[in-house]
Amino acid sequence: DFDVLVVGGGPAGAAAAIYAARKGLNTGVVADKFGGQVAETVGIENFISVSKTEGPKLVANLESHVRDYDVDIMENQRAIELTQDGKIKLGLENGAELKSQSVILATGARWREMNVPGEQEYRGKGVAYCPHCDGPLFKGKRVAVIGGGNSGIEAAIDLANIVEHVTVLEFDSKLRADEVLQRKANSMGNITIITQAMTTEVLGDGKRVTGLQYTDRATEQSHHVELAGVFVQIGLVPNTEWLRGVVEMTERGEVIVDARGQTSIPGVFAAGDMTNSPYKQIIIAMGSGATASLGAFDYLIRQGET
Ligand code: FAD
Repeated sequence: DFDVLVVGGGPAGAAAAIYAARKGLNTGVVADKFGGQVAETVGIENFISVSKTEGPKLVANLESHVRDYDVDIMENQRAIELTQDGKIKLGLENGAELKSQSVILATGARWREMNVPGEQEYRGKGVAYCPHCDGPLFKGKRVAVIGGGNSGIEAAIDLANIVEHVTVLEFDSKLRADEVLQRKANSMGNITIITQAMTTEVLGDGKRVTGLQYTDRATEQSHHVELAGVFVQIGLVPNTEWLRGVVEMTERGEVIVDARGQTSIPGVFAAGDMTNSPYKQIIIAMGSGATASLGAFDYLIRQGET
C-alpha cells in the first residue's frame, strides 16, 4: 500500500512525486505516458531559469529527477476508477487495484483539435495551441486564431501585440467572448474578426504553414487566408472523464481544488491542467503539484498513520 499515489506523469505529477518522496512517504506514480503534454512540445522558452529547451529533453530531465528518489513508477498504466472505503482505491485498466492513504490526481488535459487536413501535419510547424508559449515565434508575421470564445479573443489580443496581423475565425454567427474583450479586440488596429467561418484546411509548403482555407457558412463560398501561424483556441479538455460523479468538478470537467490542492474527497488532491486553477503552463503545473503533495503530507500527518 502507498502513502501517496500520484496519477499522471506530466510536470504536475512529477513535482508531486518528488515532493512526496522527499517527505519519506511511500510514493507511487501511475502514468499512461510519462511526460504528458510536454512530450509533444517542440520549443519551450518560458520554463524559468532554462532559456530554451525542447519537450523530449525536459521529459527526460523530469523522469530522471523522479528516478533519483525511491518512487514506484508504473508506466503505460491507465487509471479508470477511484473509490474509497477507509483507504483510497485506484482501479487500473489492466484490472489491477492499488491502495493508498492519499491520492494526487494529475492527469492533465488535451487541446481540442479542429480535425481538418493539415492540422496534424503542421503541428509545431505553424499550427499552435498555446499563445503564451508560441506567440513570440510569430513576431511580425500574420496569424489566425480559430475560436471566438474568451480564450480565442484573449489570444488574439495577446498576439496582436507581437505579430503583424491576427484574423479571428469564429464558426458561430457571433463571438462568445466577454463584451469587454470584444471591445478591446475591436479597438486594436490589426485584428480582423470573421464570423460564420468554418476552417476547412491548413495549408503549407511541406515545411511550414502558409495559409488556411475556410468556408463562409452564410454564402458557402470558400476563402483563402495567407498566414504563417494558426492558433487553435476551441477548448482545453481535462482528462477527467473517469472521475465524473466521483469528485466535484466545474461544468467544464475541471476538478475543483482548494488552496492546498484538496478535492471534495478528503485525502484526494489534484494538480495541474486537470484542475480549475487558471492558466495552464508547465511552471504552474509543477507549482500546483508541489502544493498538492505538501497538502497530502499535511493530511497524512493528521491521520496519525504515517
Ligand atoms: P499533462 O502534461 O497533460 O500530463 C498528464 C499526465 O497524466 C500524462 O503523463 C498522462 O499520460 C497521464 N494521464 C492522463 N490520464 C491518465 C489516466 N487515466 N491514468 C494514468 N495516467 C493518465 N506550457 C509551457 O509552460 N510552456 C510551453 O512552451 C508549452 N508549450 C505547449 C505546447 C503544446 C503543443 C502543448 C499541448 C502544451 C504546451 N504547454 C506549454 C502546456 C503544458 O504542456 C501543460 O500546461 C502541462 O504539461 C500540464 O501539466 P500536467 O502535469 O498538469 O498535465
